[in-house]
Amino acid sequence: MLIGHKKQLEFLRKSIENRRISQALLFAGEDSLGKKKAAFEFLKILNCRAEGESLKDKPCNLCQNCKLIEEGRHPDLLFIKPENRVIQISKIREAQAALSLGRQMAEYRGVVIDNAHLLNSQAQGALLKTLEEPAKNTVFILITSKPFMLLETIRSRCEVLKFYPLPYNEMEKSFKAAYNKYKAEEIASALFVARGRPGIAIKALADSQYLLREKAMFAEIGKIIGSGIFEKFSFVKSFLDKNKDAESINEFLDALTLCLRDLMQKKLKVYSNYPLVSFKEEVIEKFSFEKISQAVEFIEKIKFLISVFNVNKRLALENLMLEI
Ligand SMILES: [Zn+2]
Repeated sequence: MLIGHKKQLEFLRKSIENRRISQALLFAGEDSLGKKKAAFEFLKILNCRAEGESLKDKPCNLCQNCKLIEEGRHPDLLFIKPENRVIQISKIREAQAALSLGRQMAEYRGVVIDNAHLLNSQAQGALLKTLEEPAKNTVFILITSKPFMLLETIRSRCEVLKFYPLPYNEMEKSFKAAYNKYKAEEIASALFVARGRPGIAIKALADSQYLLREKAMFAEIGKIIGSGIFEKFSFVKSFLDKNKDAESINEFLDALTLCLRDLMQKKLKVYSNYPLVSFKEEVIEKFSFEKISQAVEFIEKIKFLISVFNVNKRLALENLMLEI
């Protein structure tokens, strides 16, 4: 089930209505927002066979096309994802071979490439060629949190759809309806750590250890921001002792960005229906808006350096600590 992203879906429905279906779409936005679910939802709408239903009532989720796409077993749906954090050219070649065979039962074939930024350069070259000579009735959907890692020539061939974290109200409404076997407090905690990312809320509800860890991380970051250099560096040390992989570091950096956003909101004293991380008054005063936005930019830089160049993580994080 897709949670939120109504505007994006509306845009895609309109493209069907106006018969202007893009042959290549790029769904960009941070991880865990539901971009992949949105891709499948679009392919279901495109191929739904519900008789007499208007477009806005599609997908029916009952016809054979809807069911097979939902289960990821549709013969006209190709799903490509990285193996060991890379997508090799062989995957693109397999897709090209499958496309040359023609459609089986869908009106539109779909090629969904998850984490498309992990296509290596040969694979990107091969994909570009395919996009330049588009097969009829075929839609490519590239999903990524790092569009800047794709060739400009690929990006320019795609219609880009941006995805954003969902507002709290929308998350609360959807989760209370769809996950009603959980208590209201459990849902509230999951939504606090999820910060508008449905995938994280689902993970937090399913895994209480993960939820506790995330909550502890937000509390710790709340304490670290604005604290002394000794506390910050010992935090980096103990964090890296426990978390060595790039993914955990990325999660930490995302959480730090979210905490800095909270700090910004506290400074602005704007109303937020989101539960915010707590900060001491002196920390709120100490940070200027400029300093906060500089720190957020610095985090983006570090994320890029860690994901692309495999820089020394301890040094990177220590440098970051000097910014907060
Ligand atoms: Zn259907």
